[in-house]
Amino acid sequence: MARELETSIQYLSGVGPKRAALLQRELGIETLSDLIHLYPFRYIDRSGITPIAEVAPDLAHVQLQATVVRRTLYGPAGSIVSQDTNPIHFGACKRLSVIVQDASGEMEVVFFKGIKWNYQRLVPGGTFLFFGKPQAFGTRLNIVHPEVDAAREGDASQGTLTGVYPSTEKLKNGGITGKVMCKLQSAALTLCLPEIQETLPEYVIRDNSLVSLTYALRNIHFPKDSYALQKATYRLKFEELFLLQLSLLKQKYIRSRGERGLPMPKVGADFHACYNALPYTLTGAQQRVIKEIRADLMSGHQMNRLLQGDVGSGKTMVAVLSCLMAIGNGFQTCIMAPTEVLAQQHYANIQKYLKPTSVQCALLTGSTPQKERRAIHAALEDGSLGILVGTHALLEDNVVFRNLGLAVIDEQHRFGVDQRSKLWNKGPDRVPPHVLVMTATPIPRTLAMTLYGDLDVSVIDEMPPGRKPVQTMCIGQNRRAAMYKFMREEIARGRQVFVVYPLIFESEKMDLQNLEQGYEEIVRAFPLPDYKVAIVHGQQTNEEKNFNMSAFVAGRANILVSTTVIEVGVDVPNASVMVIESAQRFGLSQLHQLRGRVGRGAEKSYCILVKDVKTSKEAQQRLDLMCATEDGFEIAEQDMKMRGPGDLEGTQQSGLPINLGLASLAKDGRLLEEARRYATTILDADPTLEAPQNAPLLRELRKNKYEIKDYSKIS
Ligand code: ADP
Ligand code: MG
Repeated sequence: MARELETSIQYLSGVGPKRAALLQRELGIETLSDLIHLYPFRYIDRSGITPIAEVAPDLAHVQLQATVVRRTLYGPAGSIVSQDTNPIHFGACKRLSVIVQDASGEMEVVFFKGIKWNYQRLVPGGTFLFFGKPQAFGTRLNIVHPEVDAAREGDASQGTLTGVYPSTEKLKNGGITGKVMCKLQSAALTLCLPEIQETLPEYVIRDNSLVSLTYALRNIHFPKDSYALQKATYRLKFEELFLLQLSLLKQKYIRSRGERGLPMPKVGADFHACYNALPYTLTGAQQRVIKEIRADLMSGHQMNRLLQGDVGSGKTMVAVLSCLMAIGNGFQTCIMAPTEVLAQQHYANIQKYLKPTSVQCALLTGSTPQKERRAIHAALEDGSLGILVGTHALLEDNVVFRNLGLAVIDEQHRFGVDQRSKLWNKGPDRVPPHVLVMTATPIPRTLAMTLYGDLDVSVIDEMPPGRKPVQTMCIGQNRRAAMYKFMREEIARGRQVFVVYPLIFESEKMDLQNLEQGYEEIVRAFPLPDYKVAIVHGQQTNEEKNFNMSAFVAGRANILVSTTVIEVGVDVPNASVMVIESAQRFGLSQLHQLRGRVGRGAEKSYCILVKDVKTSKEAQQRLDLMCATEDGFEIAEQDMKMRGPGDLEGTQQSGLPINLGLASLAKDGRLLEEARRYATTILDADPTLEAPQNAPLLRELRKNKYEIKDYSKIS
């Protein structure tokens, strides 16, 4: 069974070892099955023929049926090598120009490659189909490298939609052009289709009016017409999203029945002491989330909850109160942050909140001295330490809790799966601790449903009262002087200013140079003794970083020049201006995070995006979006549409394979929800998918195509 499907593509006619290696390297295709699951990413409608007189440069593609009038070969400097006489050396030719005509007029088609082949084929008087994108060349129009086919006889409107496959320069140079790819697909389908087994149970196909898998595969490659293509696409997208959700939800079902959770029935005195002493009332969203967490902790099952909340929405408080609940039941807790600066700030804040309680809290980072470390280890083991705050230093093997009941992970996307599973193993008697993952990267709903399909998701969708909107503007270098003037005005009013430089890779010399030059320029424009400027970057020692950072936090410095180390968490309510230099180099979610650093106090705040001359169209789109909205979820949604989800910040780092061939998490949100609803219905009735009618589903899930590594244990 399935013999053809598993055959190496090498043996497909027209491939061979060389092309097989190329296909493998460039597209990851090894077997015929891989090949037929490589779908066109768009289709070209080749049913019509455009008269040459109607060709315009704004047309995407045109197809001409035209007769060759004359051919001209050009040499390196545009010199004519030959006009319709075979030259001796094609090697000396750089360009082939062919004038073609139909009843309405004439135009030029041009080749820079395949000169000899095209010259010999396009003999004057011959009629061909030319297909390509017209472009304006000076005052004339031409088509560069059109596809050339034999002219059609009789009915010219046969074979309407042609698939365009993903390709690379190397594939094309290796002879695997679009046309060759179509031929390979056709040959592979002929061999494979008889072997294809239906993947979905009959009732699923019927309920959702889907076409069969065989029909879908044939028509996704070679659509009979646009209706058939639509049916085929729908079926294949549905299948991907449905199986993905089914796989994730099944893990969730198993977990919620299986995994033992540490029982935490009480709330405890420390929770109440802290709660009653809060300087503000919790927002409705914070209260709701705390209730959700409370219910999880009481349930007897392990909590695996993702807490999403925009920058400044008040996640820290939720974390602290959750820890106090666990402590109220006799457990220890930890809060893990991605950077040392952030861990320190958490630690300082949390200690304030803990004043009215009797809970002990400690900070453990890479730079904690050995002596303190030993004291912490001792307090962890005798159980006297209630909350351990720190960086990934918490994960080290010699950090042993007496009874870890809850682990909070802040800014989850910076941790890898392995690190998280280390935490998982730190629970007492091998019972995993409850886990709360907090992220300020708003994840669009459709993506969250996929990435965290097996997690419970809470959202803080309400900001603490009194926040003023941050006015955002984008300026060019020519307005730098005006910006400095504005900064001086704000500083004169007692405010502070962040100036951030892109330092994507902190070790890159160029970037560091930019930062240092920027710092010097700022110091020149804001000289002592009137102004104090602090600088923070990743190359500094921890002491330097802390010294400068605390100078700014305490208000001793007016301006903080820094790299993105301040991106997460840092809280300076008195800062009212965020200047982002070379803003075009940042991604949307980073820009949004940075902007979240201001607007935390009662003052009106500003975000100034300074762009360089070289700002691409895409970058400009990002900057425009930043100026248009402050809504983190909308930004995330748009970001995903602009870039595609695979590229969304956070997802790549956590190494999540979202292996969808056809469906797009960004664009197929509605279908995803439908597929998820359907998957839920099926699992409600048959959580293990053991019913005979679900056999095809179980078979598909066992292929593990839709498994998200060990995400059931992510956190
Ligand atoms: P984030 O979600 O970005 O981690 P924080 O927890 O740092 O947000 O909270 C941001 C600021 O808002 C902090 O200064 C915090 O004290 C304050 N804050 C949190 N909750 C409330 C609330 N309910 N009312 C007023 N201020 C709040
Ligand atoms: Mg935070």
